[in-house]
Amino acid sequence: MGVQKTISSLIEEKRDLFINLSDRVWETPELYFAERESSEALASALENEGFDVERKVAGLDTGFVASFGSGKPVIAVLGEFDALAGLSQKKGLTEHAPVNDGGNGHGCGHNLLGTGSLAAAVAVKEYMQETGLKGTIRYYGCPAEENGSGKAYMVREGLFEDVDLAFSWHPMTKPSIWHVSTLANYSVRFRFKGKSAHAAAAPHLGRSALDAVELMNVGVNYLREHMIPEARIHYAITDTGGHSPNVVQSHAEVLYLIRAPRKKAVQELTERVHNIAEGAALMTGTSVEAVFEGAASDLVPNTVLAETMYKHLAAIGIPAYDEQDYRFAEGIQATLSEEDIEADLAGLDRETAKMMKGRAIADLLPPFAEEVALSGSTDVGDVSWVVPTMQCLTACFALGTPLHTWQVVSQGAMPIAHKGMLQAAKVIACTAVDAMENPAIIERATAEWKERLDGEAYLSLIPEDKTPPRQWDRT
Ligand SMILES: [Zn+2]
Repeated sequence: MGVQKTISSLIEEKRDLFINLSDRVWETPELYFAERESSEALASALENEGFDVERKVAGLDTGFVASFGSGKPVIAVLGEFDALAGLSQKKGLTEHAPVNDGGNGHGCGHNLLGTGSLAAAVAVKEYMQETGLKGTIRYYGCPAEENGSGKAYMVREGLFEDVDLAFSWHPMTKPSIWHVSTLANYSVRFRFKGKSAHAAAAPHLGRSALDAVELMNVGVNYLREHMIPEARIHYAITDTGGHSPNVVQSHAEVLYLIRAPRKKAVQELTERVHNIAEGAALMTGTSVEAVFEGAASDLVPNTVLAETMYKHLAAIGIPAYDEQDYRFAEGIQATLSEEDIEADLAGLDRETAKMMKGRAIADLLPPFAEEVALSGSTDVGDVSWVVPTMQCLTACFALGTPLHTWQVVSQGAMPIAHKGMLQAAKVIACTAVDAMENPAIIERATAEWKERLDGEAYLSLIPEDKTPPRQWDRT
């Protein structure tokens, strides 16, 4: 029996356990660094499956590492479980209907991500027990992917030092291998302090922190012309200083997210943004404090692992969808724009895009894709700097569904998503077992990884004295 068949049946045997676990995390959407129940649900499930679990790793209240086996090789599977604010949504609906207004929701499908990776780790463990395969399989419970970069703290703490390869996945709209690089990022809050005054009676006595935020943003918008085109800078005003126009705002805050292809470029840009903040403070007679929020490294691709993982994705194949799945996906597509669906097809080769057009579910496997550079970021990047890493994607949502929307939340606890999750678990488990059985895969992947880094050592963008926020700060 081939490895795919063995792994598939190991995962199918526990299908209900994995689906229930994912749905449970979906029902308790928790924000970054505050994933108490989600993290505990996954950690105790791994304990029940015979893993040794270490909780609160790297100073992260909701971070944990679960381990089975001993010695080399050491294979890591990364799981995430944080939700997004403001995306509360009832499941299975094709219209926007929050469970509670303003509540959280799993708008990036991390309920599936965390559980799918867990299912992979469990399957590898059982395969090891059945076949006597030696080595260590480890599940990394990684908090705060959406904000805060939990993995960057875990890497800084050296938690991946003895790991040979790392794998993960992400719920998406099409099955593929994430053969990509991403941008490094840095996020920082600029807190301006001024002096309040009656805006009509004594404006000359006031110093407006909101003015400073506005001037800073204008300054950064002028900076855009003079930075590398691959870089990205975005901001959100997180404190406007109040709701009364007749009070000069004595405090205001803007949160910046700065991205570029390499960490060095991010550092340089961040310094220029800092200077603009100082300039805005000087212009307005206010003071400014920069508060570090999070940072992630660029993702180092690995073609050896991408090809190996694709081989297993092709062998596992596309899940069987039924009439209900198609009807639900069509209902979701009816809520999307033509542009949403076009944009989703745009990343494909022309032949596959033609075949995919008009389908509600991406129920065919695109050919292996060459490496591309993406303009997003992920804290998996930090892991990829210390260990060769690869991720796969599977179709969990109707074709065209953009991430971070109510449509993702609505679909995240439905059969299409469950099928995509189990498919990803099988692909990760097969690739992990393949590497454990064939040391040449690890050797070749490591050689490529070293060549790509070209002697550059991992540098954490997190300030040395910065520890992760405690979970109660973020509820
Ligand atoms: Zn995500």
